Amino acid sequence: AGHKRRPLIAGNWKMNGLKIAGARTLGQVIEGYDAALRAKADLLVCPPAPLLYTFAAASIGSGVAIGAQTCHPAASGACTGEISAEMLADAGASAVIVGHSERRSYNGETDADVRARAEAARRAGLTPIVCVGETREERDAGRALDVVGAQLAGSVPDGEGALIVAYEPVWAIGTGLTPTVADVAEVHAFMRAELRKRFGAAFADGVRLLYGGSVKPANAAELMAVEDVDGALVGGASLVAADFLAIAAGC
Ligand code: PGA
Repeated sequence: AGHKRRPLIAGNWKMNGLKIAGARTLGQVIEGYDAALRAKADLLVCPPAPLLYTFAAASIGSGVAIGAQTCHPAASGACTGEISAEMLADAGASAVIVGHSERRSYNGETDADVRARAEAARRAGLTPIVCVGETREERDAGRALDVVGAQLAGSVPDGEGALIVAYEPVWAIGTGLTPTVADVAEVHAFMRAELRKRFGAAFADGVRLLYGGSVKPANAAELMAVEDVDGALVGGASLVAADFLAIAAGC
């Protein structure tokens, strides 16, 4: 209630969730997504790629959507080890995270790479969840907004296609640290303003802006209450169904 956009709670399982334990967790999420929670928020679970097909099949009719964690920019071809957005869609995904800071730092993805992946997602009919966020060093140097603005400009594709943006300060991911509510509010308002400048208010005001980085049941409600926060991208806490559901209940 009171949200301008319908909140989305997205779980990023990263490289966790082996078959049996993962299926059990997904089952618990589906079971716990009752009428009261449905009234509050959309749920998206993003498991490792080998689980997508069975997860998508298991979630049919549940209201829980299934997403992927990255995609290759090309539709098909000689790219050993890669997975295209088309293949993710074929497996039953409806969204894909692109440009997570772990991809940017461990796999060297640039803003241009992230943008190409977001474009590929749209081409395949998937919603790209474009991740941005500053390092501790950048925040301490007073450059958080500059960094986020540049990543947004470089990573978000042109055109008014499907789009979700996640603000994930690198230093808040998996650390138990979160920015203050005021800092989150500042960055989210800034991102909304940047999107308005580029795309106009009609489009920008409909884009969901997620916060990510150490979101837990204990801090979810205060973060989700921020005006331009339209949900969360949850890592560690999304691996425990009760925690993931409790975060959604905080919307
Ligand atoms: P965390 O991860 O919730 O474990 O901090 C968030 C993310 O990396 O998306």
